[in-house]
Amino acid sequence: MENKTYVEINAAKQMKALMKQHFMELDEASRTKNKKIAWCSSVGPAELAMSLGFLVYYPENHAAMLGSTRTAMDYIPTANAHGYSPEICSYLTSDIGAYLRHETPLTKAYGIKEIPRPDVLLYNTNQCRDVGDWARFYGREFNVPVLGINTPHTQNDVREPVVSSVAAQLREMVPELEKVAGRHFDIDEFREVLATSRECSDLWEAVLNTGANHPSPLSFFDECIHMGPAVVMRGRKEANDYYRVLLAEMQERVAHGVAAVAGEKYRFYWEGMPVWGKLRSLSELLAGLKSCVVVSTYCNSWIFSKFDPADPFQSMAEAYCSIFIGQDDNWKENYIADKVKHYAIDGILFHDARTCASNSNNRYGMTKRLSERLGIPHLVINGDLNDLRCYSEEQTVTNIEAFVEQIEESHRENIRRH
Ligand code: SF4
Repeated sequence: MENKTYVEINAAKQMKALMKQHFMELDEASRTKNKKIAWCSSVGPAELAMSLGFLVYYPENHAAMLGSTRTAMDYIPTANAHGYSPEICSYLTSDIGAYLRHETPLTKAYGIKEIPRPDVLLYNTNQCRDVGDWARFYGREFNVPVLGINTPHTQNDVREPVVSSVAAQLREMVPELEKVAGRHFDIDEFREVLATSRECSDLWEAVLNTGANHPSPLSFFDECIHMGPAVVMRGRKEANDYYRVLLAEMQERVAHGVAAVAGEKYRFYWEGMPVWGKLRSLSELLAGLKSCVVVSTYCNSWIFSKFDPADPFQSMAEAYCSIFIGQDDNWKENYIADKVKHYAIDGILFHDARTCASNSNNRYGMTKRLSERLGIPHLVINGDLNDLRCYSEEQTVTNIEAFVEQIEESHRENIRRH
């Protein structure tokens, strides 16, 4: 085990089966109309829709598949030709491009012919404006209702009037959703879904927390894969069953000192989106440098600790207003500073994703402020979530190697001094 740079996670098989189940159920519903389907932005009102019997499909998850299968670049130009700029979200452009070309990675992965047809589209601007424009495109294509929540951004605190306005918007959605669902809303069902989703969040948080151990039993690159059920099946008991298994495996690894990166020497924070088409090569590069990315903003974004079934609308509004992406830089810097301390971080990797300004936090001086405050170096990786034309492999490898060397040198210097 010591000679291998990477140790397979046994629970991966179960995770793959769960993701398959998710897509097969959606495909069946789309073909047979046995259930209604809601499309939803990743931190949109999914639990509300589920309580009314909708299966939920997440276009961002589909777009991440386009990124990780490196087919996104085939489709982005198609969306560009339809007037969607190459400068806007490459999740959006690759997903719309694939739709216009009648193609989907679900065919190769699961034998599914086409993406599931929506009965309603839901979004929340808590992350960016693109999710609304994305939903409205499909609303026009499928001629189905588009229901949105507008959440203000860059708050220095999640204020009660903002939360109450979002809760009111959620309540306002109910009659519209009832019409599409063809059934009545039941607050107890909503409470139950929210309780299940909260448990998923707690389990996922516990999994991520195992990364604070030395060595870390998992890396950011593992987490990007294993977060799938927390993204698309939160609110379902199967997701919680899965995370219990994954958590037990990670705890077992910790007990036996099994490292995600054999011989772990350096520990990094990843700030920003993943480069989906480069997960493997980045993971191998860093593992070769005995460096493990042990914590990230991105994978922590599916922790919704505010969910409270006793007060479902208000608490769901608060949870979805409190996500990292919606806060101001002071809040974000305090958040990262806490994680840097808790996870004993040696350096921060900022991913400047060309087409996602909302998730590229390096652009307004944060890098320098954090390095000075925390006394650790940072590196900006220029790239993108899906559009690999914005990413240079050669430059990234050189920069990461130099970054690790710089950390190594400063560690040597510290030893000499003491
Ligand atoms: S947050 Fe960024 S990646 Fe996500 S949908 Fe918005 S623009 Fe796209």
